[in-house]
Amino acid sequence: MIDKPKKPFTWERGPFLKCLKCQEAEGLGILSAGGDTLRWRCTKCRYGYSEILPELDKKVIYLDQFGFSELHKLRARTRREDKHTAFWSKVSDLINEAVLLQQLILPYSNIHHDETIVSPFAEALRDTQEHIGGDISFISTNEIQLDQMEVFAEAFASGAEPSLEFDVDDILDDERNEWLNDIRISVPFDWSGFAPETREQRDKTGLAISELIDCWIAKGMGFDDVLNQELNAYHESRLEGLREAQRRFEKGLENYDLMAMAELFHGSAFRELQYVRELFREAGVPDAELTARVRAFWDWDGNKEQPNGKILAYMLAALADQFTHGRKRKPSAGFLNDVSAIASYAPYVDAMFVDIECAQLLQDKRCLEALKYRAKIFSLNSGEEFIAYLQAIIDETPDDVRRYASIIYGI
Ligand SMILES: [Zn+2]
Repeated sequence: MIDKPKKPFTWERGPFLKCLKCQEAEGLGILSAGGDTLRWRCTKCRYGYSEILPELDKKVIYLDQFGFSELHKLRARTRREDKHTAFWSKVSDLINEAVLLQQLILPYSNIHHDETIVSPFAEALRDTQEHIGGDISFISTNEIQLDQMEVFAEAFASGAEPSLEFDVDDILDDERNEWLNDIRISVPFDWSGFAPETREQRDKTGLAISELIDCWIAKGMGFDDVLNQELNAYHESRLEGLREAQRRFEKGLENYDLMAMAELFHGSAFRELQYVRELFREAGVPDAELTARVRAFWDWDGNKEQPNGKILAYMLAALADQFTHGRKRKPSAGFLNDVSAIASYAPYVDAMFVDIECAQLLQDKRCLEALKYRAKIFSLNSGEEFIAYLQAIIDETPDDVRRYASIIYGI
């Protein structure tokens, strides 16, 4: 026996208001909300109308994998009590409120993806990310790097100064300022099939940073040496990227692996080469001189100002500095992922919550002097400031937005 519901099922939902047409006392309910529209419809006479919702200007925060994982464990009630429990509970409440007030998004990134699928609770964690952050992603860190490279290649070709805009909307894959759908549907996807390869890659990056540090120590390299090495590596890293793509292509050829072969043409090394050659060809460089011209671009000093590479170089230099001053412990396997996230997103987003170690590197006075980026950087070491920052976002919500958020999301 199924209990009879008190009210018959309707597509409309509360809060119910008096219908303007048939005058039914609680006839008018919300049919849907999302984008820039709130649709009302009467359950009795079907009279309906739409309201245009107020404009939004959402803040964008990059929360690293560790942060998402802590919030996920809280949500799943699997998080063990420790000295940070109160902090993460507070952060969880504030983020939830700010997201529902339509003041904040925490986009998902390919760096999260790389880390998520090595996590034993991959799918549930992905679901939490979507739930907490909204269904919006950053474009990949590779794409950001390619976009910056294009600006510099054009500047090199034309002789003008490179001018980057750092508009956060340029690095998001969807509209930032839409009202969230009142009913959010997420499609589960099984990432686990991807895990072995990614786990291997992650171990490799862990290994790579460890080898790099050994090399610094063996050569007695400090801040300036590492900085110069990294800033001057532009040409060589392009060649290395192409050689790596070629190796994978040949391996694919041996194994009749078409996907591996196709990667050559989708990989960023090859795309960058194609892009630059095409740009110079259009600028009138004869075919016979294209390769020389590309290499001249790769050698160009101006490239040292490419934000992605510059931030990365300074962070590695600051790390080397710690080792010249007696540090012994190597960074964790995920370290380069956090560095890469900062190098890619810090110029564009409003704030980032990252690993303590990475946040500290940015506090090196040479980094503070040389690096200009938009993001406020937070970590567990500045937990109180992060909470105050989230609270300020909530407090600054315009009254009309707050009123509609309360009607639609019940906040
Ligand atoms: Zn009605």
